[in-house]
Amino acid sequence: MRLGVLCSGGDAPGMNACLRSVVRAAASDGHDVIGIRRGYEGLMNADFFDSELGVGKMSPRSVSHILERGGTILNSSRCPAFATPEGLKVAADALDRAGVDALIPIGGDGTFRGAVALAEHWKGQIIGCPGTIDNDLLGTDATIGFSTAVATAVDCIDKLRDTAESHERLFLVEVMGRHSGHLALATALAASAEIACVPEEIVDAVAIAARVQELRSLGKQSIIIVVAEGDEQGGAVALNEKLSLADCPYATRTVILGHIQRGGSPTAEDRVLATRLGDFAVRSIVDGATGMMAGETCGHCCLVPLEDTFSTHRPLPEHQIELLDRMSC
Ligand code: ATP
Repeated sequence: MRLGVLCSGGDAPGMNACLRSVVRAAASDGHDVIGIRRGYEGLMNADFFDSELGVGKMSPRSVSHILERGGTILNSSRCPAFATPEGLKVAADALDRAGVDALIPIGGDGTFRGAVALAEHWKGQIIGCPGTIDNDLLGTDATIGFSTAVATAVDCIDKLRDTAESHERLFLVEVMGRHSGHLALATALAASAEIACVPEEIVDAVAIAARVQELRSLGKQSIIIVVAEGDEQGGAVALNEKLSLADCPYATRTVILGHIQRGGSPTAEDRVLATRLGDFAVRSIVDGATGMMAGETCGHCCLVPLEDTFSTHRPLPEHQIELLDRMSC
């Protein structure tokens, strides 16, 4: 068989580990892998991995020592042109011309929406691997990159806490996550933040200001509020403005962590997850599966229809919201 693999959407630490796993699992079973560069944009342009072995062909040696590297050696992209009937036909033709029997897209919900749309124009098999720092997909306990992004954000907040304590300040720290609060909530818990503002919960600035007053009266020298970029309040800067209108008992500072959360060497957890899911995706293709995501739940690899991973918003773990509240007293 000939498998195609690409990374799409926002990059996530562990995409390289997943790519390595796909290439080596396929090679150990006697299959070819064609690396497609720059996600769906590269697919439309037949932009293949630069290889001496023939167009796009990736050998086990081509993925040596990439497991520990952040980013993706295949590059990634966001490509609106792909999401049109014409774009999808161009992509399908490119796969057929390259003799690809099955495609493994590594990415988030947009990438999987694209995979479902592609399946209407292309008859090959498609198994997705969840590569996104957002952890917003159903059907897997964690997405590849989430653990590393949380670790990066926590490391930054630990440093901010030092200065917040020294100057008795309140820091609003904005983290990524698009429309989901998973990254913000996990970061808040692990960084001992007092408050998390997430898109899933409607909390107004007045209520937050009242909680901050309460925490001040409990003797808190510093406050960390983790704000998800997709939060109702409009992010950390907007929330800071609203807090300044309320009677905030601390001097405030705003920090937007930004793209630093996408980079860095993946944690051991992400490396293991990426290795398991890349291998499982290849084995699932060989077994004849298609239209599925390779996920991991309760320690077991599983296949979930691609549509089911993004058609419903992945709820936040309620118990973690309550836990954060209890820990901030
Ligand atoms: P992340 O959320 O981590 O950034 P993602 O995979 O969700 O990752 P997107 O930019 O949303 O990133 O999607 C990646 C690409 O998937 C888009 O640039 C587009 O080419 C394709 N895509 C997204 N939505 C659709 C859709 N509804 N139909 C077809 N293709 C789509």
